[in-house]
Amino acid sequence: MNSKQIFLNFGEDLEIARQLVAANHVLVQRGVLDAFGHVSARSAADPDRFLISRNRAPALVELSDIQEMSLDCEPADERPRYLEAYIHAEIYRARPDVRAVVHSHSASVVPFSVVDMPLKPMLHIAGFLYPAAPVFEIRHLAGDHSDMLISDAAVGADLARTLGDSAVVLMRGHGSTAVGRNVPEAVFRAIYTEVAAKAQAEAVKLGAVVFLTAEEARSTTATNATQISRAWKYWCAEARTALANK
Ligand SMILES: [Zn+2]
Repeated sequence: MNSKQIFLNFGEDLEIARQLVAANHVLVQRGVLDAFGHVSARSAADPDRFLISRNRAPALVELSDIQEMSLDCEPADERPRYLEAYIHAEIYRARPDVRAVVHSHSASVVPFSVVDMPLKPMLHIAGFLYPAAPVFEIRHLAGDHSDMLISDAAVGADLARTLGDSAVVLMRGHGSTAVGRNVPEAVFRAIYTEVAAKAQAEAVKLGAVVFLTAEEARSTTATNATQISRAWKYWCAEARTALANK
């Protein structure tokens, strides 16, 4: 399949595919993704399929790299997929409300996956973390000798179970995964999970931390949901400028 055929085959998913390309670049620019990590979106045409880049570093992703995949992680074309596509597939299977997923190894979040201090919302912009981000332990299913990656459906389903109804799940010694009702919301949550982790790690050095109440978390999340498009437009413009200057 050449890139023109792939482009034409997106059909009603073309706009989502374009958003995914932008999301890859935004998440790199914002320090959430580097050579690794990935972002996906559920197909608008078929809820049992999703779109994600072929196995490629996020900064390099173009529209022709986006591939469609089943929830069994079988791509529609023969190009190699990401090893951890099961993260996305099993979350889409478990959470019909989720339409976009970001998996990252962002640096400030990982420490909270290995200590007994939970990552909780302290910032108004991160109320979606309430009451605390659950932590996935791969040893429960894969034992103590795995490569730590979510590389089969059973471990992916276990990760989705740990995520439950939350917006973000931390993965012990590995990274985190954020979900959203659309690509901008998942990107927003991934970016502000990193910001929140950095802020909480700084705050605890200074003294006892005051976290958001349940009502504050609910109210801030509702208000912020109306403002995501403002951030999304800015981040896309910023990423475009960065790419143009390379
Ligand atoms: Zn990973």
